[in-house]
Amino acid sequence: ALIIEDSCINCDMCDLECPNEAITLGSEIYEIDADKCTECVGHYDKPTCISVCPIDCIKKDPMHNENEQTLLAKFIAMHG
Ligand code: SF4
Ligand code: SF4
Repeated sequence: ALIIEDSCINCDMCDLECPNEAITLGSEIYEIDADKCTECVGHYDKPTCISVCPIDCIKKDPMHNENEQTLLAKFIAMHG
């Protein structure tokens, strides 16, 4: 999964682009639900949230380091 860093400016660009509805506005900044984020595996070649973020504050989440196979399994579990 990916994680949004504290430098997020709440520009609201990424949440609607997420194919898994994994991004929501938290108490201070936007947050990614690690259980839902497939790093866009199954939908796109690259994480679409990273593509649209104007300040490049979305990174790999070191607490949720997943390989392609695991991410694809998450996609299948959510979308069939
Ligand atoms: Fe959503 Fe894809 Fe970003 Fe994960 S990488 S939060 S699935 S847009
Ligand atoms: Fe924050 Fe980037 Fe999403 Fe904008 S696109 S809300 S700056 S994470």
